[in-house]
Order: sequence, then C-alpha cells, then structure tokens
Amino acid sequence: MARRKLVYEGKAKILYEGPEPGTLVQYFKDDATAFNAEKKDVIDGKGVLNNRLSEFFMTGLQRIGVPTHFIKRLNMREQLIRQVEIVPLEVIVRNFAAGTMAQRLGLEEGTALPRPIVEFSYKDDSLGDPLVPEEYIIAFGWATQQDLDDIVALALRVNDFMAGVMHGVGIKLVDFKIEVGRVWENDFMRLIVADEISPDSCRLWDIETDRKLDKDVFRRDLGDLNDAYTEVARRLGVLPKSGQPITKPTLIN
Ligand code: 5GP
Repeated sequence: MARRKLVYEGKAKILYEGPEPGTLVQYFKDDATAFNAEKKDVIDGKGVLNNRLSEFFMTGLQRIGVPTHFIKRLNMREQLIRQVEIVPLEVIVRNFAAGTMAQRLGLEEGTALPRPIVEFSYKDDSLGDPLVPEEYIIAFGWATQQDLDDIVALALRVNDFMAGVMHGVGIKLVDFKIEVGRVWENDFMRLIVADEISPDSCRLWDIETDRKLDKDVFRRDLGDLNDAYTEVARRLGVLPKSGQPITKPTLIN
C-alpha cells in the first residue's frame, strides 16, 4: 500500500500530498539529468545536500522578507512546503555571461554583465524550455504584466541575497534559475519563490580560481558532483568544516 499520495514526479524531485490541505512534501532524489534528460546519472547523496542547501537559502530569504514555499525540513531528503500554482516559467537571473547566453551572444563565459539580467523560459521539457519574451508570456496568459513586474522584483531580491551570501564564502553567483508560484490569501494572490534553490539550479564559481561548484560539473564532466556540492555546503556552514562524505551525512542539526 502506498505510504502517501504521489502528486507529481519530476526529474530531481517528487511531490507527495502533505499532512494538511495546502501543503506538500517535497522529496529530493539523487537523480541528475542534463540536456533535457539526455544525460542521466544517479549521484549518491545529492538529494540530501540539495534538501539542506535549499532549506538554507529559502529560510535565509524568508528572514529578509522574501516569501517562499518552504515551511520546514522533515528529514534528510524531505521538506514540507506550501502548495502553489506554479507559473509555467523558468525565471533566470544572470550576473555574468555563461551557458546559453554566452552561446547565443558569442560572449566569453565569465564576462561581467552591465547589470543583472532577468530572462524567462517557458517551462516545457518537450520543447526544451525555450526562451520567451514578455510579449509571449502576456499574450498567452501565462502571467500578467503586473505578475511579471512582481516576478522581476522578486528575482532581483533573490539575486541580491544569493550573490551576497555566496560572495561571503568566496563564491561568484554567475546565474541561477528560480520558479515562482501563486498562493491565495483571502482574496489576494501572492507570488512566492517555489521549487528549489540549490547548485542544481545555479552557476557557482570559486572567486579565486573559477572552479565550478554547480551542476555544470555533471553537464560538462568536470569531476565529482558531490565534491562540488559538498564544498558549497561546507563553506556555507551547512556541513561541518571537516566535510564528511555525504553518503554518510553528519550534517549540522
Ligand atoms: P542556461 O540558460 O545558461 O542553460 O542556464 C541558466 C541558469 O539557469 C543556470 O544556472 C542553470 O543551472 C539554470 N537552469 C536553466 N534551466 C534549468 C533547468 O531546467 N533546471 C535547472 N535545475 N536549472 C536550470
């Protein structure tokens, strides 16, 4: 018999029905995928680290007044979250050129951008999450102009927070992706940060060496993904300084 009702299974996470209406349990898998799941692997312990790191970023955001879906961590791989209606967009913030932007514009990876740039992709795996202009988003009714203004403001606050936290531990926040969800409070709709924030969805480079500490390690075969994520967790104090192997996690708390 099923332990609880599965609501949705994605590439890196599973959502189960939560204990109360309006809540879900988010389970972090060890699966790593890239290039729209053309490249796949199972990285032992990745889910444990991303659960902790996403908790760390989401609670930090909440402390500075940025609303997120995070309620509490339940165990090594699961967190309780608010159920939201996901806006079907990937909201990407870039501080330095990399990845698809570097390719599209012929820029060298690492080129500083004149200011943080927010862009949107339409969330559809079968289409490869295509970049879309605001005009499309509004015309197709995925979000209103007001929503987009709110989403850009939210994304830039997340960027300021994340860039500052990362800078404090010697890491450059090159870019990241967030997802945003709608919640209703009485008759009012609010947009809040949803999904996850982890090295799966950010580009993180060591400030001194430009060593990559994010999912590009997997995408580009640059070494051991767990070593990279463990390094991020260790610097942020989410792992003890000794940095235990995450297959035998001795995480703080
Ligand atoms: P790019 O467009 O350069 O491939 O990605 C920009 C940023 O958004 C990177 O930090 C990348 O990790 C993140 N990103 C873009 N699409 C996805 C996605 O489908 N899943 C995840 N986890 N991150 C994404």
